Amino acid sequence: MISHFILAHPIYPIRHINLDKHVIYSLIVLKNMSIVQIQPALLFDSNIYLVLGSEKTAMIDTGTGFAVDQTVKSVKNVLNKRSLDYVFITHCHYDHVGGLGTIIKEFSPKKVFAGKKDAVPLREGNSEPTLGVKFGGTIKPMDITNFDEGDKINLGKHTLVAIDTPGHTAGSISIIDEVTRALFSGDTVFVDGVGNTTYPTGSAVMMIESLKKLENIGFNGFYPGHGPVVNNGGLEFVKKGLRSMGV
Ligand SMILES: [Zn+2]
Repeated sequence: MISHFILAHPIYPIRHINLDKHVIYSLIVLKNMSIVQIQPALLFDSNIYLVLGSEKTAMIDTGTGFAVDQTVKSVKNVLNKRSLDYVFITHCHYDHVGGLGTIIKEFSPKKVFAGKKDAVPLREGNSEPTLGVKFGGTIKPMDITNFDEGDKINLGKHTLVAIDTPGHTAGSISIIDEVTRALFSGDTVFVDGVGNTTYPTGSAVMMIESLKKLENIGFNGFYPGHGPVVNNGGLEFVKKGLRSMGV
């Protein structure tokens, strides 16, 4: 299948761009869609991705917000006067969502999405299940739209689709692009392991089911919530994750 061959290979290899000595991001272009990783400002910040479609733009996770000024600067540079249309939160933990309040204020996205169960503590501004207390920050109530299994958002020529992947939290989601099959895996699977299942609403049993689901979903390249990204393939890391859980 020639089309598959083309889709499976990025048009450009990953590029690392220095905007100034503090602001670094990397860019990968896949079939009219760019995935830009804003380098985490702090060690424990989540990865932050911008997905630029031909018509709409999206941000996936926001970091803790402790260095949000730097993130805002990077995002403005990458957007280059385009608006930020959507924000997706892979799960409710503070290292992924702490910066959201400032991102909403700065960019006024049309919608902010999260999985149904993790949207609840975000709407309530509940700093316990979101680990705000653990990180020394607070979550303020926010307007969140549910994004659950099969829900889709079109970015123009590319469509992001929700995959429920509970385990790290009950409302954890992964997001896949229908065209490139690029997978944003949140804290479900990383290059060096799987997400911790011992926080509130976490479940090892659900994590195993979610990893099995990702094993069979047919993704190509994955962009996790922490650590390095994988631009092609990556199934071996899901299999390794399952083995680490005794499967
Ligand atoms: Zn987490």
